[in-house]
Amino acid sequence: MNLTSVPPRRRQIYEGKAKILYEGTEPGTVIQYFKDDATAGDGAKHEVFAGKGILNNRISAHLMTRLESIGVPTHFLKSLNMREQLIRQVEIIPVEVMVRNIAAGSLSKRLGIAEGTYLPRPIIEFAYKSDALHDPMVSDDHIIALGWADPYELEEMVNLSYRTNDYLNGLFQGVGLQLVDFKIEFGRIWGEQGELYIVLADEISPDTCRLWDIKTKEKMDKDRFRRDLGGLIEAYQEVAARLGILPRENIVQGEGFNEKLAASMEEIENELAKQRELRAVNKSKPAKV
Ligand code: C5P
Repeated sequence: MNLTSVPPRRRQIYEGKAKILYEGTEPGTVIQYFKDDATAGDGAKHEVFAGKGILNNRISAHLMTRLESIGVPTHFLKSLNMREQLIRQVEIIPVEVMVRNIAAGSLSKRLGIAEGTYLPRPIIEFAYKSDALHDPMVSDDHIIALGWADPYELEEMVNLSYRTNDYLNGLFQGVGLQLVDFKIEFGRIWGEQGELYIVLADEISPDTCRLWDIKTKEKMDKDRFRRDLGGLIEAYQEVAARLGILPRENIVQGEGFNEKLAASMEEIENELAKQRELRAVNKSKPAKV
């Protein structure tokens, strides 16, 4: 069992700030490994939180599996172990989609809207995925004109983002958490006839969502690190416990998060995504060569 944040030896495809991708066990698959590293401010701020990778792996697997169950296609195939999940190999669309329900973070800063203000309707924003350019905000026109996604793909991404938002809003409300905002990414998969599918990729976790306790408004997400509030692992464990994937009596206090979390989460069933029917975006698209 891999408890530490030191990844196993295997052919590495890519290493990001919080995850590593390895060659999968069969063609068309990839192994996604969750690290304990947290970064903010374009990597200027960096810290390692023992246990974060384990929690995000489990939380993301759970949320992706739930989304699959309502027909939102994702890259998730199955959990492999504490830190790894098997995912479909996709061609990542270089666009981050932000969905906001309540003003916070960069929206509050940019537009001078007080943090915590309920938005009259969800707002979708896009950013171009580029570390060198610091993920600049872009419009749908940039995305289409510059060829990052075509209009059909973008329409599908927006539809899936709204569905994901509606579903996750309800799911988190049910466990006393407000989904303030989140970021998702999408990838392309080509079917045997050359048809194109757009699926949810990357991760959905407290690293990529803002989650506030409904009653206390306490921040239960990566803002605890960004704003030096402390208690990040405690907050992530609370999210996992409320989602029912970490038994409450197994919440770890103090030292030794990796070992204790691994021991307490081991018994949790590895959920396999159900066989699903994907919906092609554009059947006339030529097969990928
Ligand atoms: O910083 P900002 O307010 O624009 O972030 C909006 C949402 O997107 C937050 O939930 C944040 O965690 C997420 N996000 C992310 N990765 C980024 C940028 C934002 O997960 N690179």
